[in-house]
Amino acid sequence: MGKFTLRCAGCSARHDAWNRGCDKDGGLLRTEYQQKCLIPAPYPGIWKFIDWLPVDGIISSFTGGPIAYRSEGLARELGLKDLWIAFNGYWPERGAVLRTCSFKDLEAPPTVRRLMEQGGRDILVVSSAGNTARAFAHLSRLTGYPLVLVIPSAARDRLWLTPGDGSTEQIFLVSVEGDYSDAIALGELLAGQAHFVPEGGARNIARRDGMGTVMLESVLEMGSLPDRYFQAIGSGTGGISAWEASMRLIEDGRFGSRLPTLHLAQNLPCAPIYNAVHGGSYDERCPHGMYDAVLFNRRPPFDVPGGVADALEATHGSVVGMTNEEADKASRLFEEKEGVDIMPAAAVDVAALIKAEAEGQVGTDERILLNITGGGERLLRKTYSLDRLSTDISVERNEQGEGMLMDQIKEKLLEVRMA
Ligand SMILES: *Cc1c(COP(=O)(O)O)cnc(C)c1O
Repeated sequence: MGKFTLRCAGCSARHDAWNRGCDKDGGLLRTEYQQKCLIPAPYPGIWKFIDWLPVDGIISSFTGGPIAYRSEGLARELGLKDLWIAFNGYWPERGAVLRTCSFKDLEAPPTVRRLMEQGGRDILVVSSAGNTARAFAHLSRLTGYPLVLVIPSAARDRLWLTPGDGSTEQIFLVSVEGDYSDAIALGELLAGQAHFVPEGGARNIARRDGMGTVMLESVLEMGSLPDRYFQAIGSGTGGISAWEASMRLIEDGRFGSRLPTLHLAQNLPCAPIYNAVHGGSYDERCPHGMYDAVLFNRRPPFDVPGGVADALEATHGSVVGMTNEEADKASRLFEEKEGVDIMPAAAVDVAALIKAEAEGQVGTDERILLNITGGGERLLRKTYSLDRLSTDISVERNEQGEGMLMDQIKEKLLEVRMA
């Protein structure tokens, strides 16, 4: 018997370790680990939580992980007595060394490690609006694992990497004229071909359990589960992950018995999950004009069993929509009070906390965990002169020549795969 079994979050049916969803109700599959207690392993960063990651070993060249600390500046400003910050990014002074500066760096290592353990050399296909692409490109450089990145052309500027971490030869970058949804559509086509494998999004257990380490690390620091968890969401996968990690911690028994209430934040007016909860619809120009386009996902895992709607219901959670103006204010306040720059997406999260406090939705004494999902990019740029991933091919939206594109990608990558 392995270290975990997979069970559908909806109908509880057992599944094989490599299934990607439940054939009965379409539900997310969830890992159930043999180990019921949170016992940190003597490994660096994220690997400390290997008992609750779907892998048997580590990638020793990746040493980053989530960090958490008790806020003083922002806490005082907002009059909150027990505010904690989970910082996912680059801030060496606090021990945060994620090289691509966002919590997508927590999803890539277990995903790639799991594929390596499977023994195959299937080419990993990742569609991304930016941060996920960077995280997987970094991992591909560390491991040599072959990778196709499919990104909307507007995200090209976001594909920077710190220098000197290995080759980019096994990375193939496809830039699509269109938005994130177009990139996803093309990525799905590619991933359906022989010798290619999709990253899997919210259905990828390594992604969810990797992101879940934010809650694990925070609880080790805090000594208990928080009363409330704040995060900016696009797909909402991070929110689902925080909920799932909290259930495991409750089963452990030492950290409390109440699920943290999820406070999820989107960026108005481009907020599909906010719309699903509160009604309304997003402008057709979205994601144009957003404070951070990583928060836009047209097909989030909302209604699926074990998805965002279930997470909100189980935790009595809520979704708020924040404007660019509110996010901008929040960003400046956070940097002034905590001393580090944060990504625009994370500023949407801080804005949600400010609003919740102002409206009296959070108690002054409550234990609050604020997930800063990305930050320290400016700090990183001061330390490193960054490399830029170059585009291998640009394609038009709805292009008919998919066959040709596929042939080109395969030609280059199957070579790498064989090498
Ligand atoms: C991806 C991302 C988010 C949203 O994550 P979900 O998958 O919706 O939980 C928030 N902030 C940053 C910086 C991100 O990269």
